[in-house]
Amino acid sequence: MKKVYSTFSSFCCNLFGHHYSVSKKVTLHIKEYKCIHCGKEVTTDVSGNLSELTPELQEINSTLENLYQKRHGAAQQQVA
Ligand SMILES: [Zn+2]
Repeated sequence: MKKVYSTFSSFCCNLFGHHYSVSKKVTLHIKEYKCIHCGKEVTTDVSGNLSELTPELQEINSTLENLYQKRHGAAQQQVA
């Protein structure tokens, strides 16, 4: 199966840059973003820059998210 669409999208991203939209709010300051064209995922790192979303950073983010939600759990409780 040829991945023509994703190849074309990456080509556009290379030309025009990625078009990120927030895919997940980790904390008030840290968010995960996903490119709407090629699906590339990035995240805000501790210094406020965008880094590629590696499995390591994904794990850090989910830890941060847990801490954040515990700390703010009283205000907004999630019902699973
Ligand atoms: Zn892209």
